[in-house]
Amino acid sequence: FLKGKTALVTGSTSGIGLAYAKALAAEGAQVMINGFGDADAIEKERAALEATSGKALYSDADMTKPESIAAMVKRCHDELGGPDIVIANAGVQHVEPIDTFPVAKWDQIIAINLSSAFHLMQAAIPLMKEKKWGRIISTASAHSKVASPFKSAYVTAKHGIAGLTKTAALETATFGITVNCISPGYVWTPLVENQIPDTMKARNMTREQVINDVLLDGQPTKQFVTAEQVAALAVFLCRDEAAQITGSNYSIDGGWTAE
Ligand code: NAD
Repeated sequence: FLKGKTALVTGSTSGIGLAYAKALAAEGAQVMINGFGDADAIEKERAALEATSGKALYSDADMTKPESIAAMVKRCHDELGGPDIVIANAGVQHVEPIDTFPVAKWDQIIAINLSSAFHLMQAAIPLMKEKKWGRIISTASAHSKVASPFKSAYVTAKHGIAGLTKTAALETATFGITVNCISPGYVWTPLVENQIPDTMKARNMTREQVINDVLLDGQPTKQFVTAEQVAALAVFLCRDEAAQITGSNYSIDGGWTAE
């Protein structure tokens, strides 16, 4: 149902972002992916997306650089059209008490996890207004609704995404544009999976103990969310049936924020 539409997903060389790109391409959207990583692996993903839904682009724009974000959106517009759908997804984490939290880390996380969504919207909204259609989605987090200690910058940025989402929704409400965010709990991504062996060693635990007693401690279902489940919600938000859903923050967290 997305044939003829173009989607730009930031931070889509792995994890949740890549799942968004694949799910949108499967519905026919042409996609531009973005993020860092191994050049060959990225090219393989780009080619697979191209085989699914037509010309696909990769941008190495750094989400800490506003001018690179604007240039990325312009290139998407010039070479693919649109973008009709933008997903602000790039994100990083740093875990440390406020007392010693490095200022540079704070600035980086606010830039990537929050300000980049603003810059993306600033570049994309005028293009969407012209077409009188648009879908803007951000990956927030359970940490847009509740906090955990030692994640000051991340929690602040994600709460900011929830506020930005509401504001942008109000500003675009009469233009056929919807703005929403998705708040996952713990998602099974390579990033999470790769932590398990080290944690097993550090805590002298089995794989099952690490998963249930460490990673899924706060997730009542005791199951990970999958990147594909998050992507399916984003695809739904792109449907005509979702045209009246705007300014919302959707939890998909196995019950985490119900506690
Ligand atoms: P990931 O590490 O697999 O993916 C992050 C992506 O962002 C990668 O493509 C990376 O290259 C890109 N990126 C990092 N810094 C960048 C920069 N400066 N410029 C451009 N791209 C950059 O992580 P993920 O788990 O897929 O996370 C994606 C989003 O989902 C993040 O916003 C994260 O906060 C959010 N999230 C993740 C979880 C989880 O449990 N995995 C839970 C809630 C929310």
